[in-house]
Amino acid sequence: MFDRASVVTPGGVNSPVRAFRAVGGTPRFMVSGTGPYLTDADGREYVDLVCSWGPMILGHSHPEVIAAVQEAVSRGTSFGTPGEGEVALAEEIVARIEPVEQVRLVSSGTEATMSAIRLARGFTGRAKVVKFAGCYHGHVDALLAAAGSGVATFGLPDTPGVTGATAGDTVVLPYNDLDAVRAAFAAHPGEIACVITEASPGNMGVVPPADGFNAGLKELCAANGALYISDEVMTGFRTSKAGWYGVDGVRPDLMTFGKVMGGGFPAAAFGGRGDVMAHLAPAGPVYQAGTLSGNPVATAAGLAQLRLLDDAAYAKIDAVSAELRSLVGDALTKEGVAHTVSAASNMFSVFFTDRPVRNYDDAKKQDVFRFTAFFHSMLEQGVYLPPSAFESWFVSTAHDERAVERIAAALPAAARAAS
Ligand code: PLP
Repeated sequence: MFDRASVVTPGGVNSPVRAFRAVGGTPRFMVSGTGPYLTDADGREYVDLVCSWGPMILGHSHPEVIAAVQEAVSRGTSFGTPGEGEVALAEEIVARIEPVEQVRLVSSGTEATMSAIRLARGFTGRAKVVKFAGCYHGHVDALLAAAGSGVATFGLPDTPGVTGATAGDTVVLPYNDLDAVRAAFAAHPGEIACVITEASPGNMGVVPPADGFNAGLKELCAANGALYISDEVMTGFRTSKAGWYGVDGVRPDLMTFGKVMGGGFPAAAFGGRGDVMAHLAPAGPVYQAGTLSGNPVATAAGLAQLRLLDDAAYAKIDAVSAELRSLVGDALTKEGVAHTVSAASNMFSVFFTDRPVRNYDDAKKQDVFRFTAFFHSMLEQGVYLPPSAFESWFVSTAHDERAVERIAAALPAAARAAS
């Protein structure tokens, strides 16, 4: 299948991180998913710790989500008009996340961040955007500088195709460094439209914000007339009922969402302060649109998933995450492998270094060769990890005792392989 795919699709995949470029080998083609398991085209079953890169927080083929999709699809797949489902999904987001007064639905996290920075520029009348090295906000031209995720996996500084003019208004700073942000505001007085940050980064591996970092960003933005944009595409509806905002309580001007809110379908959103959102067309002059925005099938899936994510669901995910973190840490310690298990709420990843990881430079100093050996051993034993040392691992409410036992059974050999 990969040979077939490689003829008609660049690199054989439709999103670079799916390829096994960084770890070597052939990507698995999955044909079905049930609960915490995926089955590939050769009939092999894996415990899934990727969860479609975040969205599948209830596991695969959750019966209530599938039923909602079937009900929606039986009424038609797209109308190109407003519909009740998209209003209900927007209401659910606004109810859960207090700083979001209004929200606009789009189809991908990339669209959400792209639209949020356009809105910030339109609202403030300023051009410059501050981002942090190692944070990934989708493949928006202006935000691909020193980005995380696949850009980090493949060791790319930037990407050809992004012109100097497009990226020229992007200021890239080291993560967790408020002095650098202060200096940027001093160097560009009255020019910075917004600071965009992953609410708690997961795209350089998991590197949580230092105490007071997000609050400091908010304060500096407010003092300098810039907007604070918290990208919650990965953390939103995952790290708590109200995402990372529910963890640190720092109030952004704008927020972006994706992944979990689509229930496995292409649905994403950006929202925030009502006075800022009022600048969006057709209410205001900043243009943004989408043929499939608020698609009725995607919104039905997302709404069904969000409604199932109650306090008990988050308690379960937090507990499974804590158990796995301790199992992985113990196995690596036993084999004397230098490592740091880094967590932000229930998101976590393993850095193969025992030095502290506070930013992208630190993350890059890990021993990725050890990760590669660990990854392949886990894969051979039926555990599917992200094929990159720079990605978060994800668990779901479906990761039960049996799934955890299967992971635990695979860890000793994987830790030995990494030693
Ligand atoms: N922002 C963050 C924090 C992400 O993790 C991602 C994707 O991984 C994006 C934006 C882009 O989302 P999408 O892949 O849906 O375009």
